[in-house]
Amino acid sequence: MESLSNRKKVVSNKEMTFMERIYLPAILSGMWITFKHLFRKNNTTKYPEEVREFAPVYRGQHVLKRDEKGRENCTACGLCAVACPAEAITMVAAERNKGEENLYREEKYAETYEINMLRCIFCGLCEEACPKEAIFLTDRIVPSNFERGEFIYGKDRLVESMTDRIDITKRQHTGKRTEK
Ligand code: SF4
Ligand code: SF4
Repeated sequence: MESLSNRKKVVSNKEMTFMERIYLPAILSGMWITFKHLFRKNNTTKYPEEVREFAPVYRGQHVLKRDEKGRENCTACGLCAVACPAEAITMVAAERNKGEENLYREEKYAETYEINMLRCIFCGLCEEACPKEAIFLTDRIVPSNFERGEFIYGKDRLVESMTDRIDITKRQHTGKRTEK
């Protein structure tokens, strides 16, 4: 009868030879394969002591950027949250008060901005959607943790510090408008 997938294999039922019955050649051949690996280059990376080189397109933990004057770029427009296929981003917008011009670049800012790193699939669509060059994915790894709550990253862990700025020039799209 015709098979549906055509992948059917008829298994041979032939008698095993003496050499096959003692299994020794098969065992020796297996040991030879294992032995050969002793002299090959070790492919194991002993993370975290050793960190392998990342591809330039690697997408890791997000950063919320500040401008050159230290003001937060994010205006809480919500486009990143709308673009996020994992619904990992939540935010609460607030209006900038008088005297806060040095903190926030525009009249509206994100009072709360959270990313659930357990939901995030690091697709980079939030970065693509952002019209203010406010959010970028970096080469930083989200550290492991035993508590699920620790994976909700708020502004305290997302907004870059002025003393430890994160270079995202490689990720900036040429020709993309940068708001001043
Ligand atoms: S990288 Fe993708 S999944 Fe993660 S927050 Fe951004 S849009 Fe959502
Ligand atoms: S990060 Fe960008 S897209 Fe997201 S709310 Fe802020 S300005 Fe809008």
